[in-house]
Amino acid sequence: MTKKEKIFEIRKIFDVVYADADCSLDHAEPLQLLIATQLAAQCTDARVNLITPALFERYPTAADFANADIKELESYIYSTGFYHNKAKNIILCCQMIIDKFDSKIPSSMEELIRLPGVGRKTASIIIGDIYHKPAIVVDTHCKRIAKRIGLTENTDPTKVEFDLFKVVPPDYSYIFCHQLVYHGRAICKSQRPNCAACCVAHLCDKKGVK
Ligand code: SF4
Repeated sequence: MTKKEKIFEIRKIFDVVYADADCSLDHAEPLQLLIATQLAAQCTDARVNLITPALFERYPTAADFANADIKELESYIYSTGFYHNKAKNIILCCQMIIDKFDSKIPSSMEELIRLPGVGRKTASIIIGDIYHKPAIVVDTHCKRIAKRIGLTENTDPTKVEFDLFKVVPPDYSYIFCHQLVYHGRAICKSQRPNCAACCVAHLCDKKGVK
């Protein structure tokens, strides 16, 4: 079975089992998702969702973040860890959005990764979830499960991204990544994958291998 055939079969199953798979960071508009994604680095989505309601009420626009007092901003995001760097990057990022992108969140990988604190993973989340364009979000779940199933031999996130782009249909790409997150949290966990309960075990190269 080719990797494309494997994805075709996985899609049929995941679209049923994880039909509701979606972005797990709460947001009401593109800027909020960009900020929440930056805060989620080295932190859980659940913890980020706890602090963003107050954060977005205090800073409703890019201009509010761009002009923020860094100490005050840090006090809102402290519990997400690495708060000093995150606050600094959020302020610089919003200043660039205003100065270089006419206060709009850019939609291309090339533009997004120019923003301070924005790497390929964050950029891909924006491209997929906000602009609904093809995007592979290589987080810890995607990297682990893609390798176990046999869709990539690589561990470097950019190489995994390009490997998956070759075999995942563009219209399914970012949805597939959400489904991998759900599968990783529920079944294909890092330490103890529950292969006996796995809906795609018959398609997986590493079934039963810890
Ligand atoms: S069979 Fe096991 S290793 Fe493979 S995807 Fe399922 S849970 Fe993960």
